[in-house]
Amino acid sequence: MRCNYCEWRCDLSAGQAGVCRMYREEQGAVKERFPMQWSACSVSRMESMPFYHAHPDSRTLTIGTYGCNFSCRYCSNAHVARRDPLEFKAEMNGMAPEELIRMALKHGCQNIVFNVNEPAMSLQSLLKLKQNADQAGLPMGCLTNAYTTEESTEILAAIFSFLNIGLKGFSAEFHRNYIGIGSIDPILRNISRLAKIRHIEVTTPVIEGVNDSELGAISEFIAGIDPDIPWHVFRLLPEHEMKSVAYPSIERINQLLQTARKKLSYVYFHNFVGSDWVNTVCPDCGTRVIERFSLGCGGDRMDKFLCKEGNQCPSCGRRIKIHGRPYQTDVKEAT
Ligand code: SF4
Repeated sequence: MRCNYCEWRCDLSAGQAGVCRMYREEQGAVKERFPMQWSACSVSRMESMPFYHAHPDSRTLTIGTYGCNFSCRYCSNAHVARRDPLEFKAEMNGMAPEELIRMALKHGCQNIVFNVNEPAMSLQSLLKLKQNADQAGLPMGCLTNAYTTEESTEILAAIFSFLNIGLKGFSAEFHRNYIGIGSIDPILRNISRLAKIRHIEVTTPVIEGVNDSELGAISEFIAGIDPDIPWHVFRLLPEHEMKSVAYPSIERINQLLQTARKKLSYVYFHNFVGSDWVNTVCPDCGTRVIERFSLGCGGDRMDKFLCKEGNQCPSCGRRIKIHGRPYQTDVKEAT
């Protein structure tokens, strides 16, 4: 029997668990090996995911599970994503959807974001959680590599109303040598599809001397779908097998982004302390409309939301792309 959740389409017969090791065949159906078992559950801010144009400054319950369908040589979550999930069995946090929702509400969260590993590894649990999240009025978002089949891309869209998609490079060679997959085509297909039906942002972790030459092609591709899709260029500090690779030069990468800024409305460059490119400026008149600050890795925060009613630029009135609403003024602290 084949698993059709991602483009590996693994054969799960004879007790095999597939590339991600998160599914198995059980009585003629594909089943999760560790349903409702979570590797993480904590409270964070939306900007640190990063989402810059969805539910600004909201408090979010972040969750994750185990396993991944990619083998990124520089993975910063390898301790969870690359090991056999069975190794974690004793320390897994089993929580029913009701418990997760209770926790989200108790801590004043306005939404839930799946952000540790790939959500396609746990689609059945996430579908169940979605039902409870809907009842509680909590939208769900995720970070995904979008290496899903067409069918499961629709499942992702049914669960998540906002998605940050990792487009890690643009060449087949990069994806073969650094990610461990044979083709980028399904990812590009799914980005195009999800952009039509959901709020998406795109993130590209840039590695000095490895994928920086592909930034131009990536920005062309995004602009071809919709120039208003926010693009996060993430200064990657490589981990796992690539710890010895030098950190990207801020000045050089920023220089490479100049052309992209002419094609795309919202280009961000972050993951280092004090980045000036984490603010949103109006694409028409250049007025600063959302101010943020960056504390480095995963530490971005919103400071001021300066748009007028209807998310309009206060100077020229252009509508700034925002999914949901800003929460800055009504966040309740956890008790
Ligand atoms: S989700 Fe996992 S088991 Fe299913 S096809 Fe992808 S890698 Fe294979």
